Amino acid sequence: MKVLVINCGSSSLKYQLRDMDDESVLASGVVERIGEPMGRITHTELPEADEAEKHAEERPIPDHVEAMRLMVEKLLARAVSSLDEIDAIGHRVVQGGESFSHPELVDDRVVETIRANIPLAPVHSSNTTGIVEARKIFGDTPNVVVFDTDFHLTMPDYAFMYPLPLSFYKDLKVRKYGFHGTSHKYVSRKAAQYLGKDPSEVNLITIHLGNGCSMDAVKAGKCVDTTMGLTPLAGLMMGTRCGDIDPAILPFLAKHASMTLDEIDAAMNFRSGLLGISGTGDMRDVHAARAGGDDNARLAFEMFAYRVKKFIGSFLAVLGTVNALVFTAGIGENDADVRAEACKGLEPLGIRIDPVKNAKRASGIREIQADGGPVKILIVPTNEELEIARSTVAIVRQNA
Ligand code: AMP
Repeated sequence: MKVLVINCGSSSLKYQLRDMDDESVLASGVVERIGEPMGRITHTELPEADEAEKHAEERPIPDHVEAMRLMVEKLLARAVSSLDEIDAIGHRVVQGGESFSHPELVDDRVVETIRANIPLAPVHSSNTTGIVEARKIFGDTPNVVVFDTDFHLTMPDYAFMYPLPLSFYKDLKVRKYGFHGTSHKYVSRKAAQYLGKDPSEVNLITIHLGNGCSMDAVKAGKCVDTTMGLTPLAGLMMGTRCGDIDPAILPFLAKHASMTLDEIDAAMNFRSGLLGISGTGDMRDVHAARAGGDDNARLAFEMFAYRVKKFIGSFLAVLGTVNALVFTAGIGENDADVRAEACKGLEPLGIRIDPVKNAKRASGIREIQADGGPVKILIVPTNEELEIARSTVAIVRQNA
């Protein structure tokens, strides 16, 4: 079964074609800077093979409709000879609100419900464009939607509610939803499997540190708390996002810096985090600057790791017993300095990193806790596309 996974971001479209008989990747690509004067498409055939072929092209890409057309053009060039060879399409949808607790086969009702949730994640309205266009382009081929939020719908009400007037929740659905759910679900399942247990037998703290960063407290296989909130701006410090701040900073800036709400929102999403403090939103550049003696880079690194540590402590309290910390995504998988700094001082709580194992570069799942450390510390590479493709196959088979 060939499955095309589509991930429409606010100004990008990522896609991956997989043969789910052996889960191999046949082609993948990314269309970037959609809506800007000059866009770019990078397409790779057989990305996991030695004979991988990569093509990049720059051209204006006004919207996601054009991005979808370009993707199809690239796929038809070699990966498939006809679109009929694609058996199903899986879409990443950022916000499912309270409407979706698991992936769904797309029909008109599902599209309308996703549309109704757009006010909760306006930057990601392009998710809907991807689904609508795919239904036009691929005719009767089944489409499945997989939500970033559904793994978090198991949170108890005292964890997902904000202490605001109750009507904000009742009338406007203002609550904590959480994001990166596909990643947290994937790595928590993988970690349980690695530990030789059923997900229902382990408590985990999953730590997704990429450009966006979030953590989950996972109790017996179910998410019971998460760091992100109504939007993906909450919680940890990120590449360009601030994470948790005093909410009264907003009216303060409006009054004292004459900023509009839109300006403050843009500053918090795109000019904050690592970028806001150090001048770069990329952790590798932060390290390079830090090594060169840049004190703002030192500060950004220490703030970033400190906030991860605070949430580890908080989720230890939430879970009581923790079998493993699970680090994942670009920084979580690759950055030994961040892992070491985030766990520093937590030894009395059973979290003891082995510096040699931590520093060793490797692929695949690995353990980095010191011998005899009561809490395992795992690195588990995430694979959101594979998780979406697997869910797509499962839903299509269920509905066959
Ligand atoms: P992601 O969103 O998962 O692609 O992660 C992007 C983040 O991971 C960026 O901040 C990168 O600097 C960081 N990253 C990727 N590779 C490495 C690496 N080898 N060492 C440190 N950070 C890395």
